[in-house]
Amino acid sequence: MVDKAESLVRDYSLLEFRLDYLKTPATFFPKLKKFLDMHPEATAIATCRRAVNGGRFRGTVAAQLAILLKAAACGCQFVDIELETADALKAADIEKLRRCSTLVLSHHDFKHTKRLQETFGRMREHPADVFKIVTTATSLYDNVVMMKFLQEHSDRFQMVGLCMGEQGIISRVLGLRAGSVFTFAAATPGEETAPGQISARELRDIYRIEQVDAATRVYGVAGDPISQSLSPVMLNAAFRRENVNAVFLGLHAKSIEDLLNCVQNIPIQGLSVTMPYKQEIVAELDNSDALTQKVGACNTVVRSAEGKLYGFNTDVAGIVGPLEQKLALSGARILVIGAGGAARAAVFGLKARGAEVSILNRTAANAQRLARQSGAKTIKRTDLKKYQFDAIINATPLGMGTSKHTPLEQKEIKAKYVFDLVYNPLETRFLKLAQAEGANTISGIEMFVTQGARQFEIWTGKPAPLDEMRYVVTRELQRMTAEPASASTNGHGRKLKT
Ligand code: NAP
Repeated sequence: MVDKAESLVRDYSLLEFRLDYLKTPATFFPKLKKFLDMHPEATAIATCRRAVNGGRFRGTVAAQLAILLKAAACGCQFVDIELETADALKAADIEKLRRCSTLVLSHHDFKHTKRLQETFGRMREHPADVFKIVTTATSLYDNVVMMKFLQEHSDRFQMVGLCMGEQGIISRVLGLRAGSVFTFAAATPGEETAPGQISARELRDIYRIEQVDAATRVYGVAGDPISQSLSPVMLNAAFRRENVNAVFLGLHAKSIEDLLNCVQNIPIQGLSVTMPYKQEIVAELDNSDALTQKVGACNTVVRSAEGKLYGFNTDVAGIVGPLEQKLALSGARILVIGAGGAARAAVFGLKARGAEVSILNRTAANAQRLARQSGAKTIKRTDLKKYQFDAIINATPLGMGTSKHTPLEQKEIKAKYVFDLVYNPLETRFLKLAQAEGANTISGIEMFVTQGARQFEIWTGKPAPLDEMRYVVTRELQRMTAEPASASTNGHGRKLKT
């Protein structure tokens, strides 16, 4: 624990020591004292959370008190006790803790974000220096509840508040702005202790938490699921590079109502919309561009100051843009494989550029419907050998992740260009087959980055830093391929937080 603190303290001067994770805290104290003597710049919080409160300490309240008093004597400036411990202690014992440290009185709710006022009322029966309330977000709106609660009390009390859970990210990033005096994060990536929890490095480097202020504009990618989305990494990097005072969050929305409620209350100035809400959001928009209406799907929303929602479809630009750089689209013969959302964006976008589009899809009826709506043709797989294409676009999920499937066999690839919209892995099997067949290839990254760049431009009015965006997405995908386990989460609680 001290080694880890040593490695962190230069970058993060506020460290929480979870003494309940130690088998024998007594043997730790000399090391803790030495560390704190050596690092006067460090501010240490000592916590010895009891098992009944979600920690690991199995001793009595009296033993917990003794450990915390020793930690304070070693130089920990803050000690943390839960409301239940405070209820069990005598007033004189609480005073003893306060005489030698700053007392954080905490309450954790591992299931909900409910009854905050009632809990806070109970907490205020005890004398404490900082009141910490940590709940679990089961909806995006729970963040609104937490932040309104912080705003209401933070001018009179020192408050710390955040929501755990993947849906609680808004409160982790915006909690300081709402009045939380500090926040918590995992010490290092990979030590995240709950879905959606962020490491200290991510909070600082990706979300730039120290720069978030009242003027910071808030954007996010909304979908279900959302944990694997690369949009936060890409758009936060773009905001940073272009010095835009904005932050971009992953919004795990379980319903469109929850999402919109949150958008209007935070407020969130812009949304990137992903599965499964691209179609559903269209009915909620006050207005949208012609492409959104044609495609019937919206992936970009702008919220006006009055709360009106305007929709755009940048997926079309994400497909047409990279292709257009390689070949003239007017009159080009293009095969689109798939008839879902991405295929619709491709077909409508390419038809609008004058391309001759053929659609091949697993379910023929879906291909026929899209062809009727867009004026494109359908094609049977058995007829492919009769045609040569300028470009083939894969708009199916075939080849995603570890899937070995490809939408076509090598001998069926007769095209100058092959564009695989799948971007994870970076180089799909389909692209490898296409190269072996002599075709030029375009990776799905190009679509992802181009549609994101267009979003950036719509939201900020500035040209997007395309190279930076491509670089961070590629790096993140390489990292995800190299350490797939780091995307997973472990249990609740950790040895050392910063
Ligand atoms: P979607 O709406 O669910 O459509 C999926 C399409 O793929 C449907 O036409 C479906 O055919 C077909 N399909 C699904 N499984 C198949 C299988 N096992 N064999 C053959 N065909 C199959 O999905 P979407 O939103 O269009 O996305 C499709 C893919 O595009 C995604 O998986 C993603 O990899 C990629 N994408 C990339 C980006 C980017 O930025 N690069 C953005 C969006 C999407 P049926 O009609 O028969 O069901």
